[in-house]
Amino acid sequence: MNPEKLKERLKSIHQNLWWTWNHSAQALYAEIDPVLWEASNHNPAIVLEVGSPARMEALSTDKSFLSRLSNVEKNLREYAKAKTWFSKSSTAKERRLRVAYFCSEFALHESMPQYAGGLGVLAGDHLKTASDLGIPLLGVGLLYRHGYYRQEFQSDGATRALYPEFCWNVWPLQDTGKEIACPMGTRTVWAKVWQLQVGRVPLYLLDADLEKNRPEDRALTAGLYRGSPEDRLRQQILLGVGGLMALDALGEKPTVFHLNEGHAAFVQLERMRRNECLSKIKKSTVFTTHTPVPAGHDRYPVKLASKWLRPVLRGAELNAKRLAALGDENPQEPTKKEPVLCMTVLALNTANQVNGVSALHGVVSREMWQKVYDAPSPEEVPIGHVTNGVHMRTWLSSTTEEFYRKKLRVDWSKDSPDENLWKRTDKLSDGDLWDLRTTLRSELVHFVRKMNADQAIRRGATASEISKAQQVLEEDALTIGFARRFATYKRAPLLFKDIKRLERMMSDVNCPVQFVFAGKAHPDDKDGQAYAQKIFKMTQRMALRGRVVLLEDYDMRIGRMLTSGCDVWLNTPLRPHEASGTSGMKPTLHGGLNLSILDGWWPEAWNKKNGWAIGNGIEFKSRARQDTSDAESLYELLENEVIPLFHKTGRDGIPHGWVRRMRNSIQTVPSQFRADRMLSDYLHRYYLPAHLNK
Ligand SMILES: *Cc1c(COP(=O)(O)O)cnc(C)c1O
Repeated sequence: MNPEKLKERLKSIHQNLWWTWNHSAQALYAEIDPVLWEASNHNPAIVLEVGSPARMEALSTDKSFLSRLSNVEKNLREYAKAKTWFSKSSTAKERRLRVAYFCSEFALHESMPQYAGGLGVLAGDHLKTASDLGIPLLGVGLLYRHGYYRQEFQSDGATRALYPEFCWNVWPLQDTGKEIACPMGTRTVWAKVWQLQVGRVPLYLLDADLEKNRPEDRALTAGLYRGSPEDRLRQQILLGVGGLMALDALGEKPTVFHLNEGHAAFVQLERMRRNECLSKIKKSTVFTTHTPVPAGHDRYPVKLASKWLRPVLRGAELNAKRLAALGDENPQEPTKKEPVLCMTVLALNTANQVNGVSALHGVVSREMWQKVYDAPSPEEVPIGHVTNGVHMRTWLSSTTEEFYRKKLRVDWSKDSPDENLWKRTDKLSDGDLWDLRTTLRSELVHFVRKMNADQAIRRGATASEISKAQQVLEEDALTIGFARRFATYKRAPLLFKDIKRLERMMSDVNCPVQFVFAGKAHPDDKDGQAYAQKIFKMTQRMALRGRVVLLEDYDMRIGRMLTSGCDVWLNTPLRPHEASGTSGMKPTLHGGLNLSILDGWWPEAWNKKNGWAIGNGIEFKSRARQDTSDAESLYELLENEVIPLFHKTGRDGIPHGWVRRMRNSIQTVPSQFRADRMLSDYLHRYYLPAHLNK
């Protein structure tokens, strides 16, 4: 075959992000140039554009490569035309459902870093799962020129934030040819509409970085969660008002609007401007709130919001007073001097379907927003919950997927909410499970050594430091991971509260234990950055050196490596601040065990045998007391249960007690905390009722 033709065929595969959850497709690009594949953070377009012509020439006559390529093409074709779970289980009327899913961030793949953390990961998993199940859904978001930021640590552990400028032509973006004119204050902001194809689901992204915009308007899509509150406000107008205009321009007519977090609540004002009545707007809106942390909810002075929303408000016949009422957190209190618009409250007041993201978060949200509903008791607040889940094939490592395929003939592409392929794992022997664990841990150790050495080189370390950085960790030590945004409520440094005790615990040469950390704090969050710096300093302590590692620039790839390779996943949020958390669901696909505070999703999953609970769910008033109590519980568990159980091996070298827990975790967690269960809940509890109730 002609090498150009080969390139075309490979290109048409990666135009659809289906490849991001299909290892066999990824393997093709990796095979073209393994070094470039890794260096580009798994970007197929870069491999194709930059890879050597001689290599393409060679592959164009490589029978085995071409046959695997044909196979991938066949799978993609079949995926596109298969009769889906939704189409098989719905009525004609239900099939007219069309959900527009608005979110400020989407994490689809490490090569397209348009996310800050869990919210984006959840949104990305939501789109992929809707595609798998055939639920008619489209995504709406913004396309950020610099993404979030790239994190590096200086030699003292201080964070350095870098803002790479992405070049769209090595991303699988399609130009829809549409442009919108979003009214903002006294002028117009133009935005181009791009499209990413996520399996069957389109994701539309607005880009304001156009010549004809003023510099300050072009900057609206420069970065995620950046700038002053006024910048954020304007960005959210673009997302909500502009997002809806984009759907018009594309001829999309959603029947249900899903606002994923309050950032997109201005959609509702734009709908009012179109003379939709409030009751109809409410009926067709699903709103998911994602955090009980008060600072996590955007608030703007009504005066400022009215200034930028003026044309929308005028069209909607809303005055500042009415806007203030829609976003008032405490409507029972007499009129305030400086009224504030809370985006979450605006969404609550304009949606009939509202949910939190775990059972506990549902309870907390009902208490938190009781005043908005003027309800006599929290139980009467109409907020439900849908517990989060993860998209299986995004988070399964290729090693694990291959393992299940070989041992159990499991084909995850055939999985559906009505079927539970995880049941088959009871056929695995202790030896099988332990082998998988050993392999995954060893893959992780090699990955961490490489990343750690690269980091040392970047920050200008000496040859001997680089050499040490390359030799961190052991392949058979109990490996405990902690990776998430370094928001302070997540308490990343809790493990180091009693450093002497930790060092004593880690000094037993017969029971080696090691820790890998990763995480980014918001570039303006000095406290979160101080947490990162504290952990950085721990990696340099004599007694911990080589056994506590901190990786830079936590992303989906590091997430996948850590959640698949670690034996234990540590989670220490300040209860009840973790709305759900999803990272702890990922290790359980790989036989990893959770060691977690009873917060977010964990109280729903923990059965005493599939992991460990830190503390007993008691909440102290004093933060200091809570930290002390939780740290004490963490140390006790590590000393008395986790470390001894891992190292208590039988004569065959297998720790059967540990494997029993792995088995219990694999059997009880993934089948519940998966994104197709989550989508099926959204569909039946919210999307279909909202769609049919017109
Ligand atoms: C899964 C994941 C998250 C979410 O982590 P939580 O522990 O739920 O906060 C955030 N970032 C990345 C890169 C992830 O893979």
